[in-house]
Amino acid sequence: MGSILMTPGVDLKGYHIIEYLGCCTGEVLLTEGDLSGATKAAIERMEEEAARVGANGVIGMNIQYSNFRENMTFVVANGTAVRAEPSRQEAEASPEILYALPVTNYNTELPFQMLKVRIRSDSAVQLLFAPIKNSQITALSVHLYFVNLFGETILFKQVPFLEIKNTAGVCYTEACKLDFPYGVLGQFTSAVVSVRKYVRNGLVYSCKKEDKDISLDSTRLQELRIQYGQDVVSGYVAGVSTWTCLCGKENAYSAAVCARCGREKGLFQEEVKENSLQTVLEQARKLNSVKEIWNYMLEYQKGNGNPIPNSVLTLVRDSAALERLYGNQKEDCIRKLVELINK
Ligand SMILES: [Zn+2]
Repeated sequence: MGSILMTPGVDLKGYHIIEYLGCCTGEVLLTEGDLSGATKAAIERMEEEAARVGANGVIGMNIQYSNFRENMTFVVANGTAVRAEPSRQEAEASPEILYALPVTNYNTELPFQMLKVRIRSDSAVQLLFAPIKNSQITALSVHLYFVNLFGETILFKQVPFLEIKNTAGVCYTEACKLDFPYGVLGQFTSAVVSVRKYVRNGLVYSCKKEDKDISLDSTRLQELRIQYGQDVVSGYVAGVSTWTCLCGKENAYSAAVCARCGREKGLFQEEVKENSLQTVLEQARKLNSVKEIWNYMLEYQKGNGNPIPNSVLTLVRDSAALERLYGNQKEDCIRKLVELINK
């Protein structure tokens, strides 16, 4: 026995009942000894009866004990025999999602950003990613690195993912079964998804650029993603001739919007004291000479509780001295300032 599904309730989880086959019972008369053995025997007889009428399940099962005479107990198991089929929805949804590992790398060549790797109880994995500018991705081939607490990795190469569904701006791949070594599933803390190829509008693209690591800590990253969108991997960084967008793309300094995602320049800058320095830097860029920058900084110092560090002032003062000797030093000064401030 044991192939009969049983429940004291009215439905069998994961199945739907297609036929009711009537009452089934199993009885045992116990004269001495083992009550639990007698109960088991009564249930077995009930199962046999259910199987005889073609059932594969019993619902509303209960056990009754009645003292028939002294030292004689009647044990009766009864229920309703049914025929049931696994419900398709339950069968598909049944593997449990055990972990959703954060993806710690990015690649600005891609028209999407990987977000998470789900690992299911049947050791299948599923990728979640955020498309950029509504790009339609229909297939992926990736190298998957699972990273544990000690930074050790397990690598699966060229894992294909097809049948990608977009739900409310996040894409979910189908689940792909991987051959994990026994017992390692619970050890991973993060994942690196290195996309090798992807299919977009029916064309296959190969990835050449190197992956980069996301350097924001996970709490900050989460905050930024809630505020600015799921594809965020970086804060805004102003360089000498470029600026880095929240999506990680480096754009020419003259570009007002990101060439990859269309975000505006300067959208999120690191706050606290770097923020005021970035403001000073932005202002300095608009001025025409180091002399003007120097005067601006002196003015700024007067009315500001957040003073400019001495290292910055020294740099500008020295540049101003050079300017008096050799002519305009603005570009050189800005370059050095950027290096110092972004250090
Ligand atoms: Zn961008």
